[in-house]
Amino acid sequence: MNVVIHLPNGEFGHEIWELTRIFFPGREAKVLHPITGDMAAQDCLAADFLLTVWYSYVNDYEIEVHTKLENKTDKPLKYNIHRFSINEHIKKQPIKEKREIKKILGRCIYDALAEHTGIYPSWGTLTGVRPLKVVHNLMDDGFDDMEVLDILTSGYRVKRDKAELLTGTAGNQRHILVENSDDMVSLYIHIPFCPTRCLYCSFPSVVLDRKSDIADKYLDCLIMELDQAVNELVQRGIMIQSIYIGGGTPTALTYSQLERLMGAVDLVMDGRKIKEYTVECGRPDSLDLDKLSILKAFGVNRISINPQTMNQETLDKIGRKHTVQQVISGINMARYIGFDCINMDVIAGLPGENAEHMEKTMASLASLNPENITVHTLAVKRASRLKKSLEEYPLAGDDTAEEMLRVCHRWIKEMDMIPYYLYRQKYMVGNLENVGYSRRGKECIYNIQMMGEKQTIWGFGAGAVSKIYYSSEDRIQRLPNAKDINEYINRIQGTIHRKKAIIDSML
Ligand code: SF4
Repeated sequence: MNVVIHLPNGEFGHEIWELTRIFFPGREAKVLHPITGDMAAQDCLAADFLLTVWYSYVNDYEIEVHTKLENKTDKPLKYNIHRFSINEHIKKQPIKEKREIKKILGRCIYDALAEHTGIYPSWGTLTGVRPLKVVHNLMDDGFDDMEVLDILTSGYRVKRDKAELLTGTAGNQRHILVENSDDMVSLYIHIPFCPTRCLYCSFPSVVLDRKSDIADKYLDCLIMELDQAVNELVQRGIMIQSIYIGGGTPTALTYSQLERLMGAVDLVMDGRKIKEYTVECGRPDSLDLDKLSILKAFGVNRISINPQTMNQETLDKIGRKHTVQQVISGINMARYIGFDCINMDVIAGLPGENAEHMEKTMASLASLNPENITVHTLAVKRASRLKKSLEEYPLAGDDTAEEMLRVCHRWIKEMDMIPYYLYRQKYMVGNLENVGYSRRGKECIYNIQMMGEKQTIWGFGAGAVSKIYYSSEDRIQRLPNAKDINEYINRIQGTIHRKKAIIDSML
């Protein structure tokens, strides 16, 4: 045990744990039971640091926050006491009051730990995966862009460049979110098969075994799940705004399987118009003219062909088993078939790469002229092969990862693209971010809705998570499907039943 966090008020444990971890990279952090202070005695004794944070009201509109950092010496390393006012307007709304207190505590912890460790994280106290939600909440409260920037930099300690990225992105996607209504949803369909497994992959996806009939059995269940739920929805007058078939690699399916899947979606949609229909083609080695023609024939109007890098040596190292030339051919074929909205994913921080590699990747992407580019930062997840073989594949340092993102941003600017969605993940190199960029008017609706959490997304297939949005409470209910493919197949009736019960209760 390296860092123990004690929160006598018993609130915001997860958020404070997430924030504290950033200042102690490589160390384990644990939150002490808030009420009893319970934790194995040896854990407490073994802790290198004890962080205690508490607050109390000194009057109706003022709180006093204590932030104490101790190690095994007699004297605390830091002990700060600060007073903050809570304005009357916030005080009247319990949800906003909680949010304000969380912001204040985060800021106190940030200041104390940054001063002690010399680490000043770029994203300040915004440790969750959806920093845009904070910005939209502020915009909903009537703050203008300059005021939001000020709150982000001073209230949340976000660095200026990241704060500008956030407000810019929020502005570029807001017109889609504000048009949401309760009778409009999106669908996510998961195909958990890939040609090979990438080194960094942590998704619920398996290598497709062509000799087994697992993919056919999977499609039987998936189509059943889709058919029942979508029928229930359309009977109740619900409209489908966007469909996203992701994975995995949906185009790893055989021609007949792909045709069957696309036909089933077409059937449930029964001629209804969908604004956006995406299929992730992912691996260019899973593509040819015939598969692209199937997608086009069934109305797909956005695809994603993901190189991750345009350096062959890295592609070989990360186990993608396709060539740079196959990426270029994939894009050319898609243009030939008539796709006019293509996304390409890249990852900053892949093993062995630096800014020069990213320069080459982005130059190559610019020459292919995609409508969307999504720039991810490598995340080292527990379920990945990478996590288990870090000695073999040393990662880029934080500065290198940041430099790679700067290279991306320069190219993105030259391509006249705008940021339109953004999210963060745990365990990202350099604690950075993932950003989707787009040519104006080509922003992916599904990505915005998925991360915005202001529209219901029904998920189908193994590992898919439905997120049901209750607008009156501004609340999301998550309904996850079984992750394991066999378990998903075995439990399909229960899954269908659960979905139907929720649809019945809502509408
Ligand atoms: S293509 Fe995507 S889902 Fe498939 S193995 Fe690679 S990272 Fe995982």
